Amino acid sequence: MCFEVRSRDVLARLGRIKAKSGTIETPILLPVVNPAVQLIPPQTMSKELGCKALMTNAYILLKQKGEEAAVSEVHKLLDFDGVIMTDSGAYQILVYGKVDVSPTEIVQYQEQISTDIATILDIPTSWRTTKEDAKHTVEETLKRAKQLARIKRRDDVLWVAPIQGGRYLDLVGYSAKQVGKLPFDIHALGSPTTIMEQYLFDTLVDMILTAKMNMPPQRPLHLFGAGHPFMFALAVTLGCDIFDSAAYAIYARQERYMTEYGTSRLNELEYFPCSCPICTRNTPIDVKDMPLIEKHEALAKHNLYTSFAELKRVKQAIIEGRLWEYLEARIHTHPTLLQAVKRLKKYKKYMERHSPATKRSGLFFFNGLGLVRPEVVRYKKLFEERYSAPKEAEILVLMPQPSKRPFHVSREVNGLARRLQQEIPEKHTCFHICVYAAPFGVIPLELDEVYPLSQHEIAVPPDLETIEYVAEQVKNYIAASSHNKVFLIEDTVWKDKISALCRRIKRKDLSITVLSVEEALNDKVLNDVVETLQKSVV
Ligand SMILES: [Zn+2]
Repeated sequence: MCFEVRSRDVLARLGRIKAKSGTIETPILLPVVNPAVQLIPPQTMSKELGCKALMTNAYILLKQKGEEAAVSEVHKLLDFDGVIMTDSGAYQILVYGKVDVSPTEIVQYQEQISTDIATILDIPTSWRTTKEDAKHTVEETLKRAKQLARIKRRDDVLWVAPIQGGRYLDLVGYSAKQVGKLPFDIHALGSPTTIMEQYLFDTLVDMILTAKMNMPPQRPLHLFGAGHPFMFALAVTLGCDIFDSAAYAIYARQERYMTEYGTSRLNELEYFPCSCPICTRNTPIDVKDMPLIEKHEALAKHNLYTSFAELKRVKQAIIEGRLWEYLEARIHTHPTLLQAVKRLKKYKKYMERHSPATKRSGLFFFNGLGLVRPEVVRYKKLFEERYSAPKEAEILVLMPQPSKRPFHVSREVNGLARRLQQEIPEKHTCFHICVYAAPFGVIPLELDEVYPLSQHEIAVPPDLETIEYVAEQVKNYIAASSHNKVFLIEDTVWKDKISALCRRIKRKDLSITVLSVEEALNDKVLNDVVETLQKSVV
């Protein structure tokens, strides 16, 4: 096994891939280096930018350097002693329709040039293709993947099997399942380039998660052609481990400046919003006035610095268990990213099953978007499946979330509990006090110290989507519970949504008394309540 996972958050993994030239830490970005033209020499990438791995194209190497590369090996040829991954010419198939090399030749060539991570010559599924054609690309790629075992000679090269199918998700799932049965080290999601150019990130979510749900979970997933830092947080959260970027150089040649939240044109910038060596030493005017090659190199370096920096922030967020919060901050830089995260509703159960149960930090809950995060989904699942109220509890008292956590030490809860104990000492265990709280729903007091029920901060008042979610949880709990007497205390934050929904419960044996917080705090009203309660427990 070449891949070892150190830390997880949501579906993201902080891991290590062991290759013959060294061990690299994931998630990782591999800058794409053209063997013939280099804006930044690989040696500089390694020394100045701390780049540990890069990607180059074996097909272009074969065409341009042929035997020379086979004799001197790719590391010497590129003057780079880190980990090198090679692509096989599939991108050229996508662009030009074909390549003049056979699948066998390119496998043997990658072994000859002693690459660390090699890719079979897959047939990419283009974005506009028909389903019939897409099926062909999947089957042909699978056939070539099966042939690898007969062709390869070396055991120290890691092999990548691309997953094809494009926008046809059933084909993506089939492709992932089939290549996943073969002894490959890494999988790669093929041809999302068009999707990324057109910002179809919600489709990308579908493609990535369909691949993830069908491939062996212990293998790393490479996302081909995803080189812009503004989508790293999203892709890593979904479980992508490796990225490659030709974009750093392509953008630089177009005088485009990458940031973790988008792209700017050099001539629009008055300030560099970055502290990399390029942006610290130069102003935008300095860079504009540089000779062309120097200018492009400077921009390419900045683009890589900013990409590496974003991955470091994402990695630190994984360690701290704050990746979801980081993702929420990042997606508000572009509407299509926000749209992509909304698509996660469809996959919330899968995300819950595959994300860690505990973490070192509490949650920050901002709005309804967070309702799909694993911790919220998990609580709902466990509460519905495993929780039952104490047997002796006859009367349910539901109160809105107090300001202090854990809830059972709050003034509001204590006041009510003490009062019930004082007034009806012989029967105070008949009362089951629960709070309802965003974003979790009903929280029985005896559970309120379980992670993360007391370890979260929310923005108050919750947004409508969250209020409606909590109201639904309260309604479901009351409808399914054995209590037939319920006191529901509601404050204005909940906009009567909880009581309105609860009134719709069709249970003849159920009586719900709704009290406002003012009423619940009012001695006279409370006296009446206590009196009613006393009668009901006699
Ligand atoms: Zn910079």
